[in-house]
Amino acid sequence: MEERWLQTLIDGLHSRYAGVHKGEVANYIPELGKASPDHFGMAIATSDGKVFETGNSDTLFTLQSVSKPFAFGMALEAFGEEKVARHVGVEPSGDSFNSIELEKVTNRPFNPMVNAGAITVTALLYQKYGDQALDRILTRLSAAAGRNLGIDEEVYHSESKTGHRNRAIAYLLLNFDMVPEEVEPALDLYFKQCSILVNTRDLAIMSATLCNLGKNPVTGEEVFDLDAVRNMLSIMFTCGMYDYSGEWAYRVGVPAKSGVSGAVMAVVNRQLGIASYSPRLDAKGNSCRGINVCTDLAQELGLHTFDCMNAGSSYLKAVL
Ligand code: GLN
Repeated sequence: MEERWLQTLIDGLHSRYAGVHKGEVANYIPELGKASPDHFGMAIATSDGKVFETGNSDTLFTLQSVSKPFAFGMALEAFGEEKVARHVGVEPSGDSFNSIELEKVTNRPFNPMVNAGAITVTALLYQKYGDQALDRILTRLSAAAGRNLGIDEEVYHSESKTGHRNRAIAYLLLNFDMVPEEVEPALDLYFKQCSILVNTRDLAIMSATLCNLGKNPVTGEEVFDLDAVRNMLSIMFTCGMYDYSGEWAYRVGVPAKSGVSGAVMAVVNRQLGIASYSPRLDAKGNSCRGINVCTDLAQELGLHTFDCMNAGSSYLKAVL
């Protein structure tokens, strides 16, 4: 019963927006510009491991910025909150994802969801794991998706060749001692991390791993520590949709992360992992259809964290 109902719901949302052609495919990374603007996939994974999918849910795309919260979680586990906080803040910047700016006084990047913060996080991982770092990231994200992931070599080379702005950000970070000396291999790792290939179904399961307190609900594997998950979700809630994060929190009300490939991952704590893929982006770099379907889903299912329909699931409630 539940299964048919959820499937009908996402099929309906898909057809509601498949005919809407707003937004442009990103082409500042030339290889991304080759994506079909009409591709549109959606998937939902539940915290008890059921997966529903519709549209082009098998089409592969690169994670881009959706990789950032996962790398942040790995850094928190590897270094602890205090050390990570010396290198990257937790404050929304209110500016675009690739803005060249650092916090006053501390010189830290504002948060790990903007490029400056994500490059810092990845540089810390590179410092710790060196040439093993990519394998570590791939292994962890594969565990979250429940299958072995790889990278899209073309997208990686394309960004590595043209990513001058990110290179400028990385050298600015070096100037303020926010990243270690080895800037180029750290940037290379960042470009590779952004080029990890997934489909919408994978992304829904990765999202459900976060909704399920770090345990992949399909494979049963423990992927992230509880504390890391809490911190990842907090930062996604305040900063995950770039300079649309405030409006997203207001309208949709769940932690989320977008990427310029057209991916959106939204996490409904203890309940659902939601994913959508549609490469038509708005001016802020968020998928237009991704915003539409998540907004509608949140309204129709009462998913907003502060919605009176959302029953909540706090420890306090469980023990009272
Ligand atoms: N790799 C992309 C970049 O650094 C990721 C940005 C994004 O998805 N918003 O520009």
